[in-house]
Amino acid sequence: SEPVLEIRNLNVDYGLGDQAVHAIRDVSLTLHRGEVLGLAGESGSGKSTLAYGTTRLLPPPGVITGGEVIYHPEKGDPYDVLGLTDRQLQAFRWAETAIVFQGAMNSLNPVHKISTQLTDVLRAHDPRMSENSRNARAREMLKLVGIAPDRMDAYPHQLSGGMRQRVMIGMALILQPQVVIMDEPTTALDVVMQRQILGQLVELRERLGFSVIFITHDLSLLVEFSNRIAIMYGGRIVEEAPAAAIYRDALHPYSSGLLGSFPALRGPRRELTGIPGSPPDLKGMPSGCSFHPRCPKAFEPCSSKIPVLTPHGDRSVACWLVES
Ligand code: ATP
Ligand code: SF4
Ligand code: MG
Repeated sequence: SEPVLEIRNLNVDYGLGDQAVHAIRDVSLTLHRGEVLGLAGESGSGKSTLAYGTTRLLPPPGVITGGEVIYHPEKGDPYDVLGLTDRQLQAFRWAETAIVFQGAMNSLNPVHKISTQLTDVLRAHDPRMSENSRNARAREMLKLVGIAPDRMDAYPHQLSGGMRQRVMIGMALILQPQVVIMDEPTTALDVVMQRQILGQLVELRERLGFSVIFITHDLSLLVEFSNRIAIMYGGRIVEEAPAAAIYRDALHPYSSGLLGSFPALRGPRRELTGIPGSPPDLKGMPSGCSFHPRCPKAFEPCSSKIPVLTPHGDRSVACWLVES
């Protein structure tokens, strides 16, 4: 299907000059209309940096040092998000692409009712909208994410973590964006709640037609809920494939490693601890394939030449093993 967001050769550094840490290296990734794209990888692999870079929300000292992020609006010509002025960016955020941050449920303002926080988003976006329409829209949104009308006037502390998370999802959807990015929205919630919220998001996507980039450690949730999965290592994408294909047979040794520590779909869940060694230090990245010091299959070219992400049928892989 058609692309809605195309990340092309994106590079992000933290800091400048000698101090620069290359957090995102030449990442290209396409989100298609209506799809749920899962993004997985160990802590520090660059998942959040990719999400923030794509939406121009990088905290300092983060800088985008190259690439393009082509957005395809519902109407009109595609444009590069990296070229938007601050003013254009304000219109773009929430209305075209919304992001639910890591730990977002704790970012609701404690002194305002949840209904007010939703109507504030509407007011900021369109000051001409009447108060009645704003309230009606907020009510409708909260209902959609399963918050009863009598909870509209609650303050954040009066809601459970799961409900606050749902309020955040409602807030992200209120301007009907085409793209919703969820950055580890679930780590703080219990497992049953995680599944409920994700299931609900997927259902809302079917009704409202947006696309999702979903970032998590929990590969079993990704396999269950996403169409495609991209796996990051050391700031690069090492494999990108349909969720079922990754689950069946991952081609990149790092993906297999993640899957090896992969909890059964219906068994008890575990942390991802399956790969010996630790994630690379961005300041002293290994030469060649950055996974080579940990890779059980490393061979001749691996320590000297960087494998490039290359298409293989319906997936892409960056590994010399797959090349040969
Ligand atoms: P997690 O799963 O823990 O959320 P992540 O995959 O989202 O990890 P990022 O937060 O994107 O990883 O971080 C990628 C790399 O960039 C890490 O090595 C991190 O140390 C580095 N980094 C992140 N933020 C900063 C910062 N403000 N200054 C310097 N380096 C940073
Ligand atoms: Fe392992 Fe070599 Fe493939 Fe890297 S390129 S994952 S070291 S086999
Ligand atoms: Mg993160």
